Amino acid sequence: MRYEHVFFDLDHTLWDFESNAKKTLDALYKDMNLGAKGVSEFDVFYKRYLVHNDKLWEKYRNGQIRSDELRWKRMWYTLLDDRIGDEKMAKEMAAFFLEHLPQRNILFPYTTEILTYLQQKGYHLHLITNGFEDVQWHKIRNSSIDHFFQHVITSEASMSLKPHPAIFQYAINKAATSFEKSIMIGDNIEADILGAHGVGMDQVFVNHIGQNSTFSPTYTISHLRQLEDIL
Ligand SMILES: [Mg+2]
Repeated sequence: MRYEHVFFDLDHTLWDFESNAKKTLDALYKDMNLGAKGVSEFDVFYKRYLVHNDKLWEKYRNGQIRSDELRWKRMWYTLLDDRIGDEKMAKEMAAFFLEHLPQRNILFPYTTEILTYLQQKGYHLHLITNGFEDVQWHKIRNSSIDHFFQHVITSEASMSLKPHPAIFQYAINKAATSFEKSIMIGDNIEADILGAHGVGMDQVFVNHIGQNSTFSPTYTISHLRQLEDIL
């Protein structure tokens, strides 16, 4: 067997972040009565939020902002689009979102099945995630997949973020293996795929949403079931 250790990304790879976040924002919108406070209708609010969130995540990955800024400023900028300059409200929204999001449990189709398959074939399964330690643990417990993973490597514990080599090296040390015996599975070309490629680790690009990429990963799949053809 070529690979012994399988490192998964969590968000957008196994845990359906998009669907879970949308449901949480919908609950936030209703619970905090945002429509009555001058915020645009939910669909507009949601689209704007996605734009700000993406931009701020990129800054966070590049070390330009801290995690706490990311957490509330995505709400703050979304409110500003409606000319609401309310920092307190933005911080309340951030707190609501962070508290409720990890309680959601929507996984991509075949997640539990593929983890079971890989575990039964004797692979050691781990996570490498740029998410926050407490949040990621809640997600995997609430969606009942925590028991599959031997090591959960987060940016907080490793003091590094994908695609930086340090987090991959930290993961390899934790699992007591080598890059050659390991494979990284993730949805983000820059963070997961180029990150793993940079340290000499093979990669599976999980392309659920048909993204274009100029880089050719070791493998590309569009459904988790296809991992059975590789592993
Ligand atoms: Mg991801």
